[in-house]
Amino acid sequence: MNQLAPMLKKAQDILEPDNFKGLADAGYYNTQQIKACEEQNITPYVAIPKAPKTTKNQGRFNEKDFVFNAEQNTYTCPQGHHLTARKNSVQSHGRKVTIYRTQTSDCKNCPLQAQCLTEKVWYKKMQRWEHQDIVEAHKERMQKIPRSCVNGLHWSNTHLAP
Ligand code: SF4
Repeated sequence: MNQLAPMLKKAQDILEPDNFKGLADAGYYNTQQIKACEEQNITPYVAIPKAPKTTKNQGRFNEKDFVFNAEQNTYTCPQGHHLTARKNSVQSHGRKVTIYRTQTSDCKNCPLQAQCLTEKVWYKKMQRWEHQDIVEAHKERMQKIPRSCVNGLHWSNTHLAP
């Protein structure tokens, strides 16, 4: 728990490489730790845990089905409607997030409602961490690694982006 950046920093101090890449399994996945690695000039490669089974089993959309548009600062839902930024919020552990949501009228007659909203919820709400771009860059990096390597952690430098 919260050991990704401290452990990689120790390795970095010993090895002193120019371009240090750190590898870890999903047990180390923590977005704040990924940010801490970047701040220490470490490029982390951490296996990303699977989405919670409850959401998946219910067959509903999850975060990856909503596209973030940086220029407009909105998300686009699978039906093409926008979730706009409504307010900023600070979570109990200090993470600053922005809350985005649809217009109720957009979701009211949506044919995808059952795949998207839970019972008695009439609009879609999402939150985005202020450093979410770091999380997305990490995800993109991980997607370039062959799946067999991610699962087995049989990684070598040949699999890592320069
Ligand atoms: S229910 Fe709302 S957020 Fe979900 S797909 Fe439909 S319009 Fe988009």
